[in-house]
Amino acid sequence: MNASLPGDGARVETVKLLIDGQWVDSQSGDWQNVVNPATQEVLARVPFATPAEVDAAVSAAHTAFASWRTTPIGARMRIMLKLQALIREHSKRIAAVLSAEQGKTLADAEGDIFRGLEVVEHACSVGSLQLGEFAENVAGGVDTYTLRQPIGVCAGITPFNFPAMIPLWMFPMAIVCGDTFVLKPSEQDPLSTLLLVELALEAGVPAGVLNVVHGGKEVVDALCTHPTIKAVSFVGSTAVGTHVYNLAGQHGKRVQAMMGAKNHAVVLPDANREQTLNALVGAAFGAAGQRCMATSVAVMVGNTREWIPDLKALAQQLKVNAGSEPGTDVGPVISTRAKARVEALIESGVQEGATLELDGRGVQVPGFEQGNFVGPTLFSGVTTDMRIYTEEIFGPVLVVLEVDTLDEAIALVNRNPFGNGTGLFTQSGAAARKFQSEIDVGQVGINIPIPVPVPFFSFTGSRGSKLGDLGPYGKQVVQFYTQTKTVTARWFDDASVNTGVNTTIHLR
Ligand code: NAD
Repeated sequence: MNASLPGDGARVETVKLLIDGQWVDSQSGDWQNVVNPATQEVLARVPFATPAEVDAAVSAAHTAFASWRTTPIGARMRIMLKLQALIREHSKRIAAVLSAEQGKTLADAEGDIFRGLEVVEHACSVGSLQLGEFAENVAGGVDTYTLRQPIGVCAGITPFNFPAMIPLWMFPMAIVCGDTFVLKPSEQDPLSTLLLVELALEAGVPAGVLNVVHGGKEVVDALCTHPTIKAVSFVGSTAVGTHVYNLAGQHGKRVQAMMGAKNHAVVLPDANREQTLNALVGAAFGAAGQRCMATSVAVMVGNTREWIPDLKALAQQLKVNAGSEPGTDVGPVISTRAKARVEALIESGVQEGATLELDGRGVQVPGFEQGNFVGPTLFSGVTTDMRIYTEEIFGPVLVVLEVDTLDEAIALVNRNPFGNGTGLFTQSGAAARKFQSEIDVGQVGINIPIPVPVPFFSFTGSRGSKLGDLGPYGKQVVQFYTQTKTVTARWFDDASVNTGVNTTIHLR
């Protein structure tokens, strides 16, 4: 593999496919550049795999499944133990690649890897998660028990914003459950993902158990319709996730789709002012707002509307710069197209009558003049019919709405179609309890702006942010990547007893 040196002036590398344990040059005529978003430097070229290459990857996974499914669970876990050690060892090197291709700061890139590493750590305990059940003597001399078996070849399709964490939500858990996997990383920043895949091979994942193809819609559609694939995990935008869910579902696959968001933070007047403002600014503008759990809407209740000038002052202090530069708070957005989209949405807010408190357009970053930078942007006076409220902006833009009561705030959040994350800032236990009970959002933070659960729980986005019952990682994903077989067994201890033919259904 060849993805270890982006950004160091080395020649532009071509990204390879991983098929049956071999790094393979694609025969595709369709390629895209992987670009450093702070400099526009081309780091690598990524192929859009041909149908035959996708087929070869699925076929390798299918062949490998025959022996991988019977590999002892302890052997699978020990590979994960090795993988977590390798990820720790190589974390800084991978973070440098991740920051160069994605734009986030080096510290945030290490965080991206760490949150994925935690899933690998959790995969090491699959032995106790993949247990079946047993009931003795359900009828005379009859026992019933369940086997939790791997389902076969699974596919994973991942977004650009967490090129380490989200692939690590998927392939380690699928593999440790005994499945084999075909991963389709984001074509915008596949290099750090591939470094993690390399480590998985080094940790002992056998040939064919983990395969990688690159591409866009055609490759994704091929995976969603391939007759051999049993389950598809998707993370990305709502439009694409809905398409993947429908297409793969129509082709008989189990699907989980974690999708877009509009995450509201509700601020009550009794909240700790400083802590709350720090939390809002960090969660809105960190990673340039390109987190599915970023706070993108602040709902100021009662007189907390008077805090808006302080919010603006704090946001103004953030340092916009390349992710590689020390002290950077806000890096570039992923592409020139993403920057143009964010800026167009900011303009729509102005046109629709919101008050632009802080305008991040046109920010200049000396030494990185070509970067896709948008500075922290703050709108007040926002109403629920404006595009800056109805659309996921996925950039460093925080919109502020004002209401008078907690009840109004809850109703506002519940009317929004997305249900990924929300936060309440308060010192009142009663208000927090009411909020967590009545809010219709899958992940709730109490004085926590980005309430992403640790991996022994599951990621539980809801409504417009998720399709499919079972979330990634935790106990839910073990259910997703396995199927339950029920065995009802009777053993005759006296072969001489003949009970005769019975044509009735049993009454007890
Ligand atoms: P995206 O939907 O554009 O791309 C996701 C994946 O789908 C990529 O691998 C891409 O190649 C593929 N794809 C793109 N267009 C396609 C099409 N027309 N048909 C089939 N496949 C296609 O998402 P993105 O821009 O990479 O990521 C940002 C989005 O992901 C945001 O909406 C964000 O909220 C969401 N996200 C959600 C979560 C979550 O857990 N809910 C986590 C991270 C990101």
